[in-house]
Amino acid sequence: MKTQRSMVIISAHAADFVWRAGGAIGLHTLNGGKATVVSLSYGENGESGDLWRKPGQTIETVKSHRHAESLAASNALGAEFIPLDLGDYPLEVSGESLREIASIYVEKEPDVILIHAAEDPFNPDHPVASFAAQKARLLAMGAGGVPASFKTIPPPEMYAFEPHQPDLCSFKPDTFVDVTNVWKIKTQAMLAMAAQSYLQDHYTRRAEQRAFQSRYAGFDKDTRYVEAFQRMTPEKKRFL
Ligand SMILES: [Zn+2]
Repeated sequence: MKTQRSMVIISAHAADFVWRAGGAIGLHTLNGGKATVVSLSYGENGESGDLWRKPGQTIETVKSHRHAESLAASNALGAEFIPLDLGDYPLEVSGESLREIASIYVEKEPDVILIHAAEDPFNPDHPVASFAAQKARLLAMGAGGVPASFKTIPPPEMYAFEPHQPDLCSFKPDTFVDVTNVWKIKTQAMLAMAAQSYLQDHYTRRAEQRAFQSRYAGFDKDTRYVEAFQRMTPEKKRFL
């Protein structure tokens, strides 16, 4: 029987999970939960900016840098790191890879899955990762309680983490997570991603801005850093 809460994060590129959900992951593991980051690619072509400034750079060297950075970031957040190395720009997810993601869901039995938002007009890979993560969830669940020929899991909650340009990705945050207590841990994870150092400031400011906004949802001024999510699955709730 499962004794720990489980979270799986599906990241298109090696660093996406750090900027957009690092606080939620750190909070989850700090509270005794188990977290698994599945990175579909290393982001070696499209999201390794600083590494490509080096003359004579090669794909293999970039990938091994990104592997080391993402592993260090995952360790900082207390999460397991599973790289699938499917390639990026463009990221393509085959039927076989979909089954691999579904089998990770079945093995980890996540209570919650964090994924990319469904739309992103500036990134060719994020919507592909979002769709694959959603489809794999359906494959892992089977058809809602009906016996299947394969092992199934109870329906995990699924949330989209905040895109880089939320308003242009039809992202409507409805879930605010106070990550003030784990901000040091998230900072450590962000510092591990040296190839995209320019994003550290950006996501620190975003978290401060969301903290201010979340006061309308009841947080007080002690809340300094917040990550925003959009719920993608129906909520099971009992009103008393
Ligand atoms: Zn990305």
